[in-house]
Amino acid sequence: MELYHGDIVYSESSEKLNVFEDSWLAVEDGKVEGIYKDVPEKFKNVPVTDHGRGLIIPAFSDLHVHASQYIQRGIGMDLLLNDWLNTYTFPQESHFADPEYAEPIYEAYVDDMIRNGTFHAGIFATIHRDATNILFRKLEEKGLWAYVGKVNMDFQSPSYLCETTEESLRETEIFLEEHSGSGTVKPILTPRFAPTCSRELIWGLGKLGKKYGVGVQTHVVESRWEAGESLRLFPDCVSDSQIYEKAGLLGNGPSIFAHVIFPTEDDIRVMTEYDCVAVHCPEATNNVIAGIMAVKWQQEQGVNIALGSDIGAGVKNGIYRQCAASIKLSKLKEFYEPEQGKTIDITHAFYLATKAGGQVFGKVGAFEPGYVFDALVIDNIEDAGHPMTPAQRLERFCYAGDDRNIIHRYLNGKKI
Ligand SMILES: [Zn+2]
Repeated sequence: MELYHGDIVYSESSEKLNVFEDSWLAVEDGKVEGIYKDVPEKFKNVPVTDHGRGLIIPAFSDLHVHASQYIQRGIGMDLLLNDWLNTYTFPQESHFADPEYAEPIYEAYVDDMIRNGTFHAGIFATIHRDATNILFRKLEEKGLWAYVGKVNMDFQSPSYLCETTEESLRETEIFLEEHSGSGTVKPILTPRFAPTCSRELIWGLGKLGKKYGVGVQTHVVESRWEAGESLRLFPDCVSDSQIYEKAGLLGNGPSIFAHVIFPTEDDIRVMTEYDCVAVHCPEATNNVIAGIMAVKWQQEQGVNIALGSDIGAGVKNGIYRQCAASIKLSKLKEFYEPEQGKTIDITHAFYLATKAGGQVFGKVGAFEPGYVFDALVIDNIEDAGHPMTPAQRLERFCYAGDDRNIIHRYLNGKKI
């Protein structure tokens, strides 16, 4: 048992931020036991760590990120998705055929993720199994929580970044076998998106998903181009989401759909029926996609929503930045498309970044009893002589903070 003192803040729901100022958080076997205003008599002899006015918050969850694109962040941001992929991303990802190219990039990505307080993530690697295993092992060594995917591409892809259908399915099955029974890092099926996957491949992945009980992550109605192309290639499907439903890919584990900017009624049906998570990546949306997810509207339809950095379309690891970006974009959405747009507030955005995203991994992302103590201590956010409330400090950190404000990190109850 350990006790941590500070200003403790976590989300109960999208509408409720729980704030315990000047309080004590008790941790037993790496899990939250309770939060107390004063140290209870029974804990009088428990070791204490005093973080003073430090803000103790849950670590963040990034539900959509391409670790392989970490090296290209901030490059080609003046292009739109299809041109950006063909000009920068696909040539760059092809170098991951060489594990020696991959190793330092994945090392830098994982270090940066920890520095920025992202301890739980849904990660795309590339089509290359050996390099994907390097990323997988690095995440395991650090004790992080992740779903990691070897990407599948066998169609309409450049020759230097394309597998045969048979090879793609075989390599994926080996990848799943290599990581069965894994701990907090798990494999996930990762068809890049419908435009680069043949029907045979997607349906084959559906069989693997059922056989191994493994979920799926992909891009869904990401841009008008992607949404249109998916329906052109799969004319028997009425929505992008239905492709994955018909292939048997949903309901085998978590179903994580990145972006979901242009959903049809049927996309909403599939996502609510299979409890999918739609991942809002506001920075990436600004950079290469040029569409805005209707966060509040989708939530009202019953869709689960989380946040993603979407590096390299997004440029930085900190999910706290995405909290601020999601609020800014929701205002533009309301201004330009008032029928679907409603502004969200910091309470809502922080919930998406912590508890909502964390649900995919288990009990992480909040401080209710039984939750894993994955936490960050935030400080040095106030101006001298101008004290702020804990909620104000949280908001300022999301808008104006960076990794230097994260002064301590706890992963699985241990200081790292
Ligand atoms: Zn992406």
